[in-house]
Amino acid sequence: MNTQMDSSHNDFRAEVRQFLADALTPELAAAGALGFAASRADGTRWHKILFDKGWVAPEWPAEYGGTDWDVTQKHIFEEEMALAGGPMLMPFGLGMVGPVIYTFGTDEQKAQHLPGILDGSTWWCQGYSEPGSGSDLASLKTSAVRDGDDYVVNGQKIWTTNAHKADWIFALVRTDSSSKPQTGISFLLIDMKTPGLEVKPIVSIDGLHHLNEVYFTDVRVPVTNLIGEENKGWTYAKFLLGHERTGIAGVAGSKKAAAALREVAKDESNGVDGGLEKSPEFTARLSDVEVKLAALEFTEARLLADMAAGKPAGPAASTMKILGTEIQQALQILRVEAAAHYALPFELAQIRGEANEPAPGPEYAIRAVSDYNFGRAATIYGGSNEIQRNVIAKAVLGL
Ligand SMILES: Cc1cc2nc3c(=O)[nH]c(=O)nc-3n(C[C@H](O)[C@H](O)[C@H](O)COP(=O)(O)OP(=O)(O)OC[C@H]3O[C@@H](n4cnc5c(N)ncnc54)[C@H](O)[C@@H]3O)c2cc1C
Repeated sequence: MNTQMDSSHNDFRAEVRQFLADALTPELAAAGALGFAASRADGTRWHKILFDKGWVAPEWPAEYGGTDWDVTQKHIFEEEMALAGGPMLMPFGLGMVGPVIYTFGTDEQKAQHLPGILDGSTWWCQGYSEPGSGSDLASLKTSAVRDGDDYVVNGQKIWTTNAHKADWIFALVRTDSSSKPQTGISFLLIDMKTPGLEVKPIVSIDGLHHLNEVYFTDVRVPVTNLIGEENKGWTYAKFLLGHERTGIAGVAGSKKAAAALREVAKDESNGVDGGLEKSPEFTARLSDVEVKLAALEFTEARLLADMAAGKPAGPAASTMKILGTEIQQALQILRVEAAAHYALPFELAQIRGEANEPAPGPEYAIRAVSDYNFGRAATIYGGSNEIQRNVIAKAVLGL
């Protein structure tokens, strides 16, 4: 792809930056710092602002509500969104089940679900993992048995991000146990209000509630909620994972975090005379991350150009996931080190944005440890980095 920006792209960047600066209130910016744990009300408010502008789904085809931007414009928009720092746009609808529905769904499914995903009024969660079926996802046991015009679903999902806020769950279920594990899986859309569906919270080590267990006891799901063909769910599930893995790399967010650390290093002494920026050890490590980040950015640009030309993300999505998440973790470690003793207080009210007293240290230190703790999950979710290495070993190196 051509990575040189022409003047129209520079104008586009200025337009996006101005719009986001005008639209993002201080309250929405504060909610943005909470990531997945921001409230649904704040998330929906930001989503609607972008929807009203027509900018909420740049990756979608224009006929379904996408922006029809070129690859460079999409890249600029993603960067500016990360720099602005608004509440996270939930990936489960826009980035995951939306593309599955417009690619494999029936006209009725598209008409029922795409408008709510696009305008942010319907929230989704992802029901893939189960106890014992994470990396080995194809071993999943939650069953769906046909009974008249319904499937009857029984089983359990775990680590379901935002299930407590979601209206719908897209779930992988077993519809045939007699054949190879991958060929007996189906992809179902399930209304979270269906009788027999129960959500139980898991509060994670960052002190926040993002995760849940979801239990299904004789949950009746209309057959019309099946995506594509019965027992072909693995195909749709893999299509979705390709989208998920490139998104997790979080290049623009890491660029923002690295730039923020450069600023912190100017003032934060942390025992170093003249500030951390005078510490060869600290700046060498920060520079190392920045160089890797620049390389990742170019890899991402190449990948996006390939995808725009109709090529699948393929194993490159695994490379993006590994490098992107390792960079995120390296930046989180540097932030904790920069904050030093200010990172020690683990005050939940401060972390959750509910405190009515000033924090004991600087703003950047409040969630340094909380983000570091939750950040360990980045190399696990979306398919662990070990599994991504297996994918590369097989698909790229032919091992
Ligand atoms: C914060 C967070 C959010 C999540 N959100 C969701 C969600 O919304 N929806 C959802 O469905 N799931 C979600 N997950 C689940 C996630 O996809 C799984 O945790 C992940 O796939 C790993 O599965 P597991 O936890 O069962 O670990 P396991 O599969 O038991 O793996 C344990 C360890 O063994 C390693 N390992 C396993 N198999 C191999 C192998 N063949 N070769 C080399 N190493 C291997 C793994 O890399 C890992 O280090 C989330 C997880 C986290 C942590």
